[in-house]
Amino acid sequence: MKWKTVLEEMRPYKPGRSIDEVKRAYGLTNIVKLASNENPYGTSQQVLDYLDQTPLQYEIYPDGHSSRLRKTLAEKHGVSEESILFGNGSDEIISIICRALLDEGKHTIMATPTFPQYAHNAKIEGASLTEIPLLDGQHDLDAFLDAVTKDTAVIWICNPNNPTGNLMPADKVADFLKKVPEDVLVVLDEAYFEYITDEQHVDSISLLEQYKNIIVLRTFSKAYGLASMRLGYGIADPAVVTPLNKVRNPFNNNSLAVAVAEVAVLDEEFIDTCRSLNDQQRNRFAKFAEQHGLHMFDSQTNFVLMQVPVDADEASEFLLQQGYIVRSGNALGTPGYIRVTIGTEQQNDGFFEAFDELLKKGGSHEA
Ligand code: PMP
Repeated sequence: MKWKTVLEEMRPYKPGRSIDEVKRAYGLTNIVKLASNENPYGTSQQVLDYLDQTPLQYEIYPDGHSSRLRKTLAEKHGVSEESILFGNGSDEIISIICRALLDEGKHTIMATPTFPQYAHNAKIEGASLTEIPLLDGQHDLDAFLDAVTKDTAVIWICNPNNPTGNLMPADKVADFLKKVPEDVLVVLDEAYFEYITDEQHVDSISLLEQYKNIIVLRTFSKAYGLASMRLGYGIADPAVVTPLNKVRNPFNNNSLAVAVAEVAVLDEEFIDTCRSLNDQQRNRFAKFAEQHGLHMFDSQTNFVLMQVPVDADEASEFLLQQGYIVRSGNALGTPGYIRVTIGTEQQNDGFFEAFDELLKKGGSHEA
């Protein structure tokens, strides 16, 4: 068959190992998955109550406009309803952006390492890529600007960045936007926005008033605890949303996802609680890393990228045998590190114990 040639060198997305798979392979009964940055506290009780009580009309197509959720989110963010684009996870919005703006002859810029779906989708569309190495875990925005050409159509900023967890200050982003040509779309992927506790941080949705060439991505998969529902959204000027909507499949969000998201958005207390619990536990990770002389990036997310005393694959395998699924940095472009989702207090107690065993095995790390 006449496949796109670029597919020859690409591989399908390889998810982290599932709990059931690890249980079977290792004969363990108690597994803690700290690999995909899901919410260890689950989802809002109000969502669970809603699911118990509300019948859905399964035979009817979803509202392709997600009207009620659109209205709720528009009010929450102080934007017009036409400024919102829904996707089947923010993953789908990333692919919609690539389909709409990138093809052969077009150019796109992103950091490395960063969330891999930007490069993956851009390659499928045949665009050329410039990947700018992180500078101390941060996007090197000066190098981004130097890389802009007349063909550059999209710039990707993952903030906070996955897998480092670093947050770029809002004033740096604003300063960058001043210098980017107006006909280049800047994607601000903020999948972990709800976990930010840095008081200096300014919500980048406010930048939309000044910059018409940005789109801010948010998701229900992380702090809202609804990863299984697959729902993300973008906020941009209607002049950006309208062409993207031409590419979007008509019923890309299912009725259940949209209905529970509406309930979830209104339970702000749940998000506040998760942010605060996550922050407490994040501080424990920072202390643990410091005590053991292990480098850890300064995270504003619900995961940390932490140095390990042995090869990252070996460390991940060892932790897996103890019942903790984490991501090896070897697969994320950060050898020597593992990415660990911050769990509950109890989960992290167990993780630190398992890590202590790893340190005994690998010898304590020379900082
Ligand atoms: N962006 C970033 C930075 C992510 O880490 C993720 C999920 N790992 C996504 C986007 C995609 O999230 P979803 O499709 O579940 O909304």
